[in-house]
Amino acid sequence: MKIIILGAPGAGKGTQAEIISKHLQIPTISTGNIIREALKSGSEMGQKAKEYIDSGRLVPDDVVIGIIQERLAEPDCKDGFILDGFPRTIPQAEALDRMGVVIDRVIDIEVDDDVIARRVSGRRVCPGCGASYHLEYKLPEVEGVCDNCKDTLVQRKDDQPETVRERLRVYHEQTEPLKDYYAAKNKLFVVEGQEDVADTTRLTLAALEANL
Ligand code: ADP
Ligand code: ZN
Repeated sequence: MKIIILGAPGAGKGTQAEIISKHLQIPTISTGNIIREALKSGSEMGQKAKEYIDSGRLVPDDVVIGIIQERLAEPDCKDGFILDGFPRTIPQAEALDRMGVVIDRVIDIEVDDDVIARRVSGRRVCPGCGASYHLEYKLPEVEGVCDNCKDTLVQRKDDQPETVRERLRVYHEQTEPLKDYYAAKNKLFVVEGQEDVADTTRLTLAALEANL
């Protein structure tokens, strides 16, 4: 299966993507994670992406399209994959179509902006392995420390309140039109994000099996 997870920043796309990934045994491809890795490694692409990410804007289409094109060519993608955070603009979706990638299903996770703002402010991430935690919903075993690699958890710079507002604005303006784009292709399935992750997961797994 080739699946796209859509949703506003902080709607829980990444969490649902990881769950489906395990369930279907196919890789999750997160452009956000790939870009943050590039940033950490100090590559040229990372340098260029930094100012966009830190200010809550989207990295230019040609950069992320290049990233996706390379990543989808890797052997682990041949039986399917989950795209988390791509496409995020109509031109990115069109590029995917031009690459000949036929998406089976688009799962859109809907969460209100005010709920998102509250959630994102509690998000903490591990700079070592990229694992994501939450002060209310997903505590690590030891406070402030990653379960996997024991690094000290941090708040992403772009999770600070003003930047979150900008990311939501960009989402509504540039990413939300993708709902119509995929609805017109009869691929869209809407999941109402729930307070409890396990409840959202149940709906997501049902959406994978449902007839469109
Ligand atoms: P979230 O979904 O919580 O916003 P991500 O980790 O998916 O977080 O993305 C973080 C940042 O990386 C985005 O705000 C954007 O600057 C950049 N980014 C990720 N994916 C894309 C994309 N498909 N197009 C443009 N920019 C992207
Ligand atoms: Zn870690």
